[in-house]
Amino acid sequence: MRSRYVVGLGANIGQPEHALLAALIALEADGRTRIRARSSLYRSAPIESAGPDFLNAVIEIDSELCPRELLERLQSIERAAGRERPYRNAPRTLDLDLLLAGDRVIEEEGLSVPHPRMHQRAFVMRPLLELLPDVDIPGRGRASALLAGCADQRIERMGAFGQADTASPPNRIEARQTGTRQS
Ligand code: ADP
Ligand code: MG
Repeated sequence: MRSRYVVGLGANIGQPEHALLAALIALEADGRTRIRARSSLYRSAPIESAGPDFLNAVIEIDSELCPRELLERLQSIERAAGRERPYRNAPRTLDLDLLLAGDRVIEEEGLSVPHPRMHQRAFVMRPLLELLPDVDIPGRGRASALLAGCADQRIERMGAFGQADTASPPNRIEARQTGTRQS
C-alpha cells in the first residue's frame, strides 16, 4: 500500500542546492518512493543557529515505506551527504524532515509526525503552502493560518527547484537568459 507524505529539505553548508537535488534522486532510487510534486527553492535565515543562509524546499511523495522506514531512509540519505550532528541546530550539509504522513499523528521514540516544530518555521510553511495551499496540520490547524505566526522570519523564493540560480548575482542571470557567454 502506498502512503502520501510531505518531506522538508534544507542545507546550509557544502553545496546546498546540489545536496537537495541529489536527495531527490536518492529518494526515488529504490523504486518504492515517487516524488509527486516539489516546491520552489527558497533561501532562509538560520533559526536558532548561526552560519550561512539555508536553501529549503518541500516535496510531496508517494511511498510504499511506512513512516519509520521512510525516516530511516531519509537519515541514510543525510549520512551519505556527509551530515554530522556535532551540536543541536548545527549547520548541515543536508536535513531531511518527515513533516506529514497524510493526516496521521505519530508519537514514537525518535519519530514525531507532524514534525513538532514545522508550524513555527517559515522555511517549512512557505514552501508547504506553495505546494498544498489547503493543507491542515493535524493537531495544529490550517497551515495558511499558521504562517502568520512565523511572518517575521526572513525567507525569499529563489526560483524553480532545480533551475534556480543560487550562485550568481542578478546580472549573470540576465546574461544567461540572453544567451551571452558568461565569464
Ligand atoms: P531538526 O531537523 O529538528 O533540526 P535533526 O535533523 O538533528 O533536527 O533531528 C533530530 C532528531 O529528530 C532525529 O534524530 C530524529 O530521530 C528526530 N525526529 C523526530 N521526528 C522526526 C521527523 N518527523 N522527521 C525527522 N526527524 C525526526
Ligand atoms: Mg532534521
